[in-house]
Amino acid sequence: MSLPIYLIGARGCGKTTVGQALSQALGYAFNDTDHYLQLTTQRSVAEIVASEGWDSFRARETESLRAVTAPNTVIATGGGMVLAEVNCRFMREHGQVIWLNAPSDVLADRLEHQPEAAQRPTLTGRPIAEEMGDILRERAHLYRQTAHHEVNAMQSPDRVVEQILQSLSLARA
Ligand code: ADP
Ligand code: MG
Repeated sequence: MSLPIYLIGARGCGKTTVGQALSQALGYAFNDTDHYLQLTTQRSVAEIVASEGWDSFRARETESLRAVTAPNTVIATGGGMVLAEVNCRFMREHGQVIWLNAPSDVLADRLEHQPEAAQRPTLTGRPIAEEMGDILRERAHLYRQTAHHEVNAMQSPDRVVEQILQSLSLARA
């Protein structure tokens, strides 16, 4: 039995993409708190926020983090998971936390090139590159404090997986 691995970082850093590849490399299960929320509520993040507000969304996010936590599981977390200190403490206590770090222009570029269905409205209605810059300025210290390890997320997904395995001293299965 091994502790869960939590991937944290801003939207677009590759938590879902890298998380799936990492779970395959380790023979672990994969779970995604955003996806879990959508499945259990049958609503998108944007819809939950529109109907219940951000506080309610954040509370649901905390519940989803606890619900998906299990041994031998890679967990991709919502970009705002670190905004609640209780979530940061929970992740550090229950598993290994990895920050996928990339600059805001790279994140914005990736999000702009996602297929329509995967795109979400920006939180503020401003250009996405500006918004990602603000988000990173606001959250970088939280990601850094919460993570046991920081990985450069500008590399290919395979390289990112390799670096995570190295930092956790886990050999590829
Ligand atoms: P997150 O779950 O952190 O929001 P995703 O895994 O959904 O991020 O990735 C966002 C977009 O960026 C997707 O279109 C994905 O294909 C692309 N992407 C993810 N990781 C990388 C990477 N290491 N290099 C290039 N593109 C990537
Ligand atoms: Mg994701």
